[in-house]
Amino acid sequence: MGCTMSSDPSVDKRSLFSANGARASVSPNSVLALTTGDPRVFEPFWRKMGDACKVVIGGGDLMSYFSDVGNVCWFLEPELGDAIRRLHRVVGNAVTEDRHIVVGTGSTQLFQAALYALTTPAAAVEPVSVVSSAPYYSSYPEVVDCLRSSLYKWEGDACTFNKDGPYIEVVNSPNNPDGTLRETVVKRGQGKVIYDFAYYWPQYTAITSAADHDIMLFTFSKCTGHAGSRIGWALVKDKDIAKKMTQYITITSIGVSKESQFRAAKIMKVICDGCQNVGSTAAKSGNFFEYARVIMSKRWQKLREALQHSEYLSLFKYPRERCLFTGELNERLPAFAWLECKEGIKDCEEFLRGFDVVGRGGKAFGADPKFVRVSLLCGDEDFNGIIERLLEIKGIRNGN
Ligand code: PMP
Repeated sequence: MGCTMSSDPSVDKRSLFSANGARASVSPNSVLALTTGDPRVFEPFWRKMGDACKVVIGGGDLMSYFSDVGNVCWFLEPELGDAIRRLHRVVGNAVTEDRHIVVGTGSTQLFQAALYALTTPAAAVEPVSVVSSAPYYSSYPEVVDCLRSSLYKWEGDACTFNKDGPYIEVVNSPNNPDGTLRETVVKRGQGKVIYDFAYYWPQYTAITSAADHDIMLFTFSKCTGHAGSRIGWALVKDKDIAKKMTQYITITSIGVSKESQFRAAKIMKVICDGCQNVGSTAAKSGNFFEYARVIMSKRWQKLREALQHSEYLSLFKYPRERCLFTGELNERLPAFAWLECKEGIKDCEEFLRGFDVVGRGGKAFGADPKFVRVSLLCGDEDFNGIIERLLEIKGIRNGN
């Protein structure tokens, strides 16, 4: 049996429950804001590493705009380029041979750089359509339409896209928000594709093959958890596209912080040394991805237990896949819980808000409001909080 929730946010959902004969009162809670994917979950690992990841930058270091003037991406620090190639070789998640690396201020900037590179010089009067299959990452429409560009325009769900003319499809795999693995859905000659592999790392999914596409975006934020460094990178096959992406970053920010690149290179080295069991930090770090998988796995187990037999909320089930990195049959462990409200509850975001849990509702992702995305990358305290609230929701109806 479900319950129909009011769409009036002033109505306290708990009082509705009590009107339905369930538990009369629930102790007041602090609000749990789990709308963003701020990756605090891996912080304890890096704190434990202490000085092993420390970088020292003197007052006279890293002062120039330039890093490697002979390279297409002239502001890429060679150490970071090497570390990125090594990381992909160690994990096996992407082909880096014969690719240009373009570094960006997060992959958010690289996404914009790729849009610019794929649509200039403008060949048509109409802006190029940009699509992604729903539910899509909520930032895509925001970023694409932010400046009302005459170069490109957001056209929404790739599955229902039927306009003629050039288009760009964004493929996010594993997908934020729902954790599904994705491929292109629009199969037409005039299309270009941007692959967003923010979550194609072993802690979230099985690495089934080395991705090999023309434009692939990765981010340090979701790989290691260092979102604050704002480092992303693109692996780009075509030199002219890499040049144009570099040009975009030159115009918008004249390069990317060298301090951040220096730190990212160090952390990637520590990860690779740990995975390959070489170097002075390996014994201390161990295999970061194995550590991170264990954490994500425990979180998913707790989440599934908390939602077992829930009358109100359900979760996707994901298939297991053979992972080339771990050599095992691995469960998918997405960074977000994509919760679906069961029959009778129309707005899942509002439903959770009634329990002081703030997620991001389905509409922001081009999906039905019966879905809500809740981040599982938060710190332990917030994660334990969400589990408590989910148990509380279950308990209320069961009258426990
Ligand atoms: N793509 C996806 C699918 C994401 O979830 C995120 C972060 N939320 C990004 C790109 C952007 O990552 P950043 O700008 O931190 O590199």
